[in-house]
Amino acid sequence: MKLFMATETHIASAAKNAEDTLQCWSCDTLFPAGSHFCPHCSKVQKPVAADYFSFFGLPRKLNLDGSTLEKEFYRLSRKLHPDLFVRATPQEQEWSLETSSRLNDAYRTLKDSIARTQYLLSLEGVQLEEQSKAATDRARQTGEEKKQVVPPDLLEEVFELNMQLQELRMSAEKDPEVIAQLETAKKNFETRLQGLHFELKKLWDAWDQAINRGVPSDDPERLQVRNQMVDLLNRRSYIRNLVRDVNEALQN
Ligand SMILES: [Zn+2]
Repeated sequence: MKLFMATETHIASAAKNAEDTLQCWSCDTLFPAGSHFCPHCSKVQKPVAADYFSFFGLPRKLNLDGSTLEKEFYRLSRKLHPDLFVRATPQEQEWSLETSSRLNDAYRTLKDSIARTQYLLSLEGVQLEEQSKAATDRARQTGEEKKQVVPPDLLEEVFELNMQLQELRMSAEKDPEVIAQLETAKKNFETRLQGLHFELKKLWDAWDQAINRGVPSDDPERLQVRNQMVDLLNRRSYIRNLVRDVNEALQN
């Protein structure tokens, strides 16, 4: 229910702006943007360019009730099901398909807390460092050094780890001691990842509170939380890459 209530509040405040009011193509009813169907005649409406939060009528906040989002996703999926549009006009069929595809993208992004955070940061104008698996593989293939800054407090550990990894790769016989060291290192990094997740949750709270208080996007408070999230996600992906490297080395 929370999502629905949030939706209503969001729509109510959005509707104050004339640009956010739409008119049904079929029955001319005026309705607030953010609804994909006319509230009067229920006809599907022309898709409007909107970010994934707006698609669900949600404010740009990071704490999100997953089960409510899921319910809303299934509710809209049912309403957009192609079977319901077999007798509709080609235009309505096209709009429903387009909205349906947008719905899937929006849901996939918002239901995952990390993807949601990354998406929000991209809306806030941040470009996250490319530290995905694809970027790593590409860097390996081209032999280029991947742009990845070692978080300062990890320097020593990473140095140590790289030595151990190299030792393991170079030796024909796997040294059980090196393997044990790598297993330990892996556990330590995994513990750090859990810690980062806890820190991230606190940043979501700080962000949401700023949004609730209507703090403007260029306010230092908001920028600070934003930058802390960027830093944290970069650290997270750096450590995840390390864990992956260790796993690969241990499997070979
Ligand atoms: Zn209508």
